[in-house]
Amino acid sequence: MKKRNGSSFYPSYSIASVYDLDFQKLYEKGYRALFFDIDNTLVLHDAPAEEETKAFFERLREIGFKTAILSNNGKERVEQFASKVGAMYYREHAGKPSAKAYLDAAETLDTDRKKCLFFGDQIFTDILGGNRAGIPTVLVRPMGREKYFHIVLKRMLEKPFLFLYKRKNALWKNEP
Ligand SMILES: [Mg+2]
Repeated sequence: MKKRNGSSFYPSYSIASVYDLDFQKLYEKGYRALFFDIDNTLVLHDAPAEEETKAFFERLREIGFKTAILSNNGKERVEQFASKVGAMYYREHAGKPSAKAYLDAAETLDTDRKKCLFFGDQIFTDILGGNRAGIPTVLVRPMGREKYFHIVLKRMLEKPFLFLYKRKNALWKNEP
């Protein structure tokens, strides 16, 4: 497991949107399983899975990817979303930034951790958890404004990390 130093807060990559990424290319690079956060990563916070999201997962399956949903949101939200998009694995109350859900997903989908990619919009949950699990992480630019105060607060705390990340990487333009 990765040492819990400052680097645990930095994503391996950073993109503007999952919907603009060339996933065929990622498959050719050797990635085989894709893990996603839901809220503000795939859809707006608490929004249902739209046709665009369903088509997106269908395309990932066609390419040959295994897919998983890891969300700290509740059972009803996550179960409905995962079944609508047809994710192969999902975990509600995922306990991010704990590494456990990430490791369970990689094991269940029988995929080497280095061949997985995790996509999420929050540093202190999504990215930290993926880094702890030793899974490459992709920070996605949040899709909408935050509805909840505790997330607004975390956004403020993320700012210095994003600032430091930007000094060495192209924020939102650093593709895997
Ligand atoms: Mg999120």
